[in-house]
Amino acid sequence: MIIIIGGGVMGCSTAYHLAKAGIPATVLEMDAIGAKASGKAAGFLDSLVVSVFYSCFTQGNAEDSVRQQFAQVADAGFKMFPAIVDDIRERTEIDVQYQTGIQLRCAMSQKEEETLLSVSKQVRQLTGIEVEIISGDESRRIEPLLSPRVRLAVKLPYARVEPYRYTLGLAEVAEQMGIEIVLHQATAFRFSSETGLVHEVQAGSRWLPCEALVVAAGPWSDAILWQLGISYQSRMVRGQMLRLTCPTVPQNYVVYNPEVDGMVCDMLVFPCADGSLLAGYTGDTDGVTADSDNPTARSRQVISECLADFVPVLANASIVEHRAAVLANPPQGGLVLGRAPGWQNVYLALVGDGGIGVSPLTGQSIARLIQDDIVGRRDVGA
Ligand SMILES: Cc1cc2nc3c(=O)[nH]c(=O)nc-3n(C[C@H](O)[C@H](O)[C@H](O)COP(=O)(O)OP(=O)(O)OC[C@H]3O[C@@H](n4cnc5c(N)ncnc54)[C@H](O)[C@@H]3O)c2cc1C
Repeated sequence: MIIIIGGGVMGCSTAYHLAKAGIPATVLEMDAIGAKASGKAAGFLDSLVVSVFYSCFTQGNAEDSVRQQFAQVADAGFKMFPAIVDDIRERTEIDVQYQTGIQLRCAMSQKEEETLLSVSKQVRQLTGIEVEIISGDESRRIEPLLSPRVRLAVKLPYARVEPYRYTLGLAEVAEQMGIEIVLHQATAFRFSSETGLVHEVQAGSRWLPCEALVVAAGPWSDAILWQLGISYQSRMVRGQMLRLTCPTVPQNYVVYNPEVDGMVCDMLVFPCADGSLLAGYTGDTDGVTADSDNPTARSRQVISECLADFVPVLANASIVEHRAAVLANPPQGGLVLGRAPGWQNVYLALVGDGGIGVSPLTGQSIARLIQDDIVGRRDVGA
C-alpha cells in the first residue's frame, strides 16, 4: 500500500496522479482535506516570468539556480492547469473558478519604484523576458480605484484557482478512481534503517502496511522526518487574508510592497468570483510554529491600513472573514521533491510558498517516481 501523509494540495495532487496511473494509495489526513494552507491560500498560479518576479521580491537571497528551477516547475504546472480543471469539473461538478487576467504590481513610493525597476531588470536577465512597465496614470486607467499615490506599475499576466475547491477536486477525483482517504493522523512508523524501508505506519489504533511513503505534511513534515532520523528545519511563515465586501471593488488583481515590521511584503488585493475581495500577505515569522494558524488582531489592522492607503474606497469595506495559515519554506528555498536521502521507499513533496501553482507537476513527478520504483522493486522481488 502507498501511504501519503497530508491531504493538502501536495498530497492530493500526488494521489490524483497515482490514481490516473492506476496505482492504489491511501491519503492520511489528520484534519480535513484542504483544511490548512492549501484551502486558505490566494491560489495564484505562476508562469515562468511571474514566478521569477515574485521570488526576486520575496527571496532576495535565494540562489538564482534555485529560483530558476522553481520557476520552471511552476511554469510547467501552470500549463497543466486547464486540463486538470476540466477533468475536475467533468468528474465532480466542482468548479475550481479558474480565472486569467492581468495583475498590476504597483509602486507607491520612490523606494518601491526603484525596487520594481531593479526586479524587472533582474527578471529580464534571468528569463530574457521584458516586462511591461506603465505609468501611474495608465495603471489608474486600467484600475480606476487605485490610489493617486501609485507612481508606476508593472503589468504581468495572472491566473488563479480557488485553492480549497481545487484541492478538494483533486481528492474527489482520486477517491472516485480508487484512492482511499482516511481522516487520521500518522503518528508512528515501523522501519529498518539498515534497508532504508518503512514497513508500517500507525494511524489511530491501526498499523497500515506500507510499500511506499509520501511525506506531504506541510509544516508538520519536520516532525515526521525527525522520527525517521532526517533533520529538516523549514522556515515557518504565517499568511493572513481578509475577505471583504464593498459596494465598489477593484476588478483587477493589484499588489504593492509596503514595509511591515521592517520587512518588505507583498500586499495583494483581488476580486473573487462571488464579488467579494481577498486581501492580505504572507510574512509573519516571529514565534510562528506549525500550529500558529490563528488570525491576529495586529495583522487585521495592518491589512486594513495598507488597503485604505492603496485602494482608498476600501476604507469603508466590511470584513466578512479573517483567515490564517502557516507555510513551511524549505531551508534552501524552492521545493524538496523526490526520494528522501538514505531511504528507498520514502518520498518528499515539500514546498513553502507557491505550492498550489507547482502542484500539478510535483504530483505527477512523485507518482511517476513511485511507479518506476515499485515496478523495479517488484521485478527484483520476482
Ligand atoms: C495566505 C496564503 C496565501 C498563499 N497564496 C498562494 C498562492 O497565491 N499561490 C500558491 O501557489 N501558493 C500560495 N500559498 C502557499 C500554499 O498555500 C502552499 O504552498 C501549499 O498549500 C502547501 O501545500 P501542502 O500540501 O504542502 O501543505 P498543507 O496545506 O499545510 O497540507 C498539509 C496537510 O498535512 C496534514 N498533516 C500534517 N501532519 C499530518 C500527520 N501526521 N498525519 C496526517 N495528516 C497530517 C495537515 O493537516 C494538512 O492538511 C499561500 C499560503 C498562504 C498561507
